[in-house]
Amino acid sequence: MASGAAPLPQLVRLVASELVAEVCSIYVMRPGDILELTATEGLRPDAVGRTRLRVGEGIIGIVAATGKLLNLPDAQNHPAFAYRPETGEEPFISLLAVPVRRAGHTMGVLAVQNRAPRSYAEDEVEVLETVAMLLAEVLAAAGASDGAEEGVAATLPRRFPASSLVPGLAVGPVVVHGSGPAPRRLLADDPEQELARLSGAVKAMQRGLDELIAGSLPPGGNGAADPGSSATREVLEAYRLVAADAGWLRRVQDVVRSGLTAEAAVNRVTGELRDRMRRIVDPYLRERVADLEDLAGRLLAALDGHARPEVAPGAILIARRLGPADLLDWHAAGIAGVAVEEGSANGHAAIIARALGLPTIAGLRGVLESVEPEDEAVLDADEGQLILRPEVDTKAAYRRVLEARLARRAEWAGLRDRPAMTRDGTKVSLMLNVGLALELEQLDSTGAEGIGLFRTETVMLARGAVLDVAEQAAVYRRVLDAAGTRPVLFRTLDLGGDKLLPDGPPQAEDNPAMGWRSLRVALDRPGLLRRQLRALLLAAAGRALSVMFPMVATVAEYRAARALLMAEAARAEPAPKTLRVGTMLEVPALMWQLPELLAEVDFVSVGSNDLMQFLFAADRGAPALAARYDVLSPPVLDLLEELCRRAEAAGVALSVCGEMASRPLEALTLVSLGYTALSMPALGILPVKAMLGATDLRAFRPVLGAMRHSAGGAPSLREPLAAWAREHGLEV
Ligand code: PEP
Ligand code: MG
Repeated sequence: MASGAAPLPQLVRLVASELVAEVCSIYVMRPGDILELTATEGLRPDAVGRTRLRVGEGIIGIVAATGKLLNLPDAQNHPAFAYRPETGEEPFISLLAVPVRRAGHTMGVLAVQNRAPRSYAEDEVEVLETVAMLLAEVLAAAGASDGAEEGVAATLPRRFPASSLVPGLAVGPVVVHGSGPAPRRLLADDPEQELARLSGAVKAMQRGLDELIAGSLPPGGNGAADPGSSATREVLEAYRLVAADAGWLRRVQDVVRSGLTAEAAVNRVTGELRDRMRRIVDPYLRERVADLEDLAGRLLAALDGHARPEVAPGAILIARRLGPADLLDWHAAGIAGVAVEEGSANGHAAIIARALGLPTIAGLRGVLESVEPEDEAVLDADEGQLILRPEVDTKAAYRRVLEARLARRAEWAGLRDRPAMTRDGTKVSLMLNVGLALELEQLDSTGAEGIGLFRTETVMLARGAVLDVAEQAAVYRRVLDAAGTRPVLFRTLDLGGDKLLPDGPPQAEDNPAMGWRSLRVALDRPGLLRRQLRALLLAAAGRALSVMFPMVATVAEYRAARALLMAEAARAEPAPKTLRVGTMLEVPALMWQLPELLAEVDFVSVGSNDLMQFLFAADRGAPALAARYDVLSPPVLDLLEELCRRAEAAGVALSVCGEMASRPLEALTLVSLGYTALSMPALGILPVKAMLGATDLRAFRPVLGAMRHSAGGAPSLREPLAAWAREHGLEV
């Protein structure tokens, strides 16, 4: 059958003979949504380049517009039939036309026609669809859908706005995920032999996954730390279940039995999934499909006999979607950043990327259509954009920033084992926010003093299911083992809002962030919370245990949650050495219940992410509001100072664990207000430590006081604070 590089006239000839069709034609999409007859076997040769149809016009145009095939025994009587005399197609009655699609875009239409009225059989449809898939690769490689202007455009810089999932910068060559060669052979000579190849490859793929999960993969080629450590189990085990799912493998086998090669069958089934994917709204189901796509790529690699991609240092990975295992492979290969067309902050790949500290952006449109093999790019995950083919000056400027950051990071590394302290001696405890076991190694790599927030729901979100008591206990035990003598604050399940499980409560609310979520669900359905508390006590096994509750809005809620914990603790054998119980402060109403609250809690931790959204009535996930309200604004600072004063007077330990604490200027401001325990993502620890170490708090406090005093209704103090920091040589 045709090779991936077959010229189009040869391809149509081969397809026509393979399908015993009298006509085979290729229509290629040109600029302006015009489909041009580009190659034909059976129609008049001089119609090539002349016959043109608009998208939506005629049967070919409808197939292009809908992205769906048409199988018509009597095409000429179809209401949309558009007669083009120059083609000489009058004698051909039946028609099968399939879209040529790649990365979600229609690149053309492939059609066969016959004189006799006939409905094309399922296996013929499959062959034509498979050829269409191959043709898409050929057209993409030839840049066939690019007109002259787009040919020029392919050399110009282009900016793709995106949302930032993990901040950071990368500058380097691009590498496109899943851009391996199209299958060379489409039709198998011996389906039985092909099924055996497939089964061998499935076993190899599953072995590979087992190894990845068991953490026994060797380190990546560039010497990067092996990310396939045992700690990635949460995500990968869920993924392994998908890998073992008989449904999609059976579908691939069926397609092989119909005569395609294993590679072509995998591509076919992946294509079908992609099409179904487009109709799925539920983010978790979409995530499952992304896993399947990821697996398909691994299966193709196993069929091809090679497993790990190779990339140039600093490469930026571009993908339509990305599954967790592939991300780990790419990371091991040495990529420096990731840009995905489709991906959400809570998607599996995002969770892994965050744990790896890999700059990641999502939601770019059309980048896969624009990217060329030799392209370079700047990935600016701080601002949320990808600059493809950056101008020389732009690239140089970003490289300078990147080099400065790397140098600074190297400097900070020296701070790891020093205590966090302001220049004038105020000691601050810097702790980690953790959600996955994968992040535990950051305790040692950052020198954090403990875990100030363990988000227990993250593991479940990553696995897509609620864990039973034993599974939870195993996770919590690992956390406590890794922490050793360092303190850990376990936060109970904080599901709902933007953190949904597929089998969780249905979310038919207009405003789920303020809906039936988090502790509210836990108190209404106490079984789930009790099982979690039992798992925590089991994991503690006589060690110290600290538990905090999220989204507490009333003292009564706190009391009810604490009572459940105490009931479980009374039965725990052995009892924890110490049991500390506290609450997050995320709902502003708690500020007016402080006397009662502070009398009953051992500690309070400020969740600045939710506190901000409820204080300003500003959805924390809405990009349009991201820069509108500032944590460094007078009302927030007033609230935080008041809370600090009251907690101190009540002798209650206080910390901040929202993202606010991870930014040096904010951290400095918090310390100046009296906070001495800050918990944050790993990337913040050393920069915050550096900032504190360079600051004379005694000098800064009155400056902050004066700024607040003279704010005069200003929405933020960020500018004057940053100016002060710069004047004093502090890195903001
Ligand atoms: C917060 O709201 O600040 C917080 C730490 O909790 P989460 O981000 O998990 O909602
Ligand atoms: Mg919160």
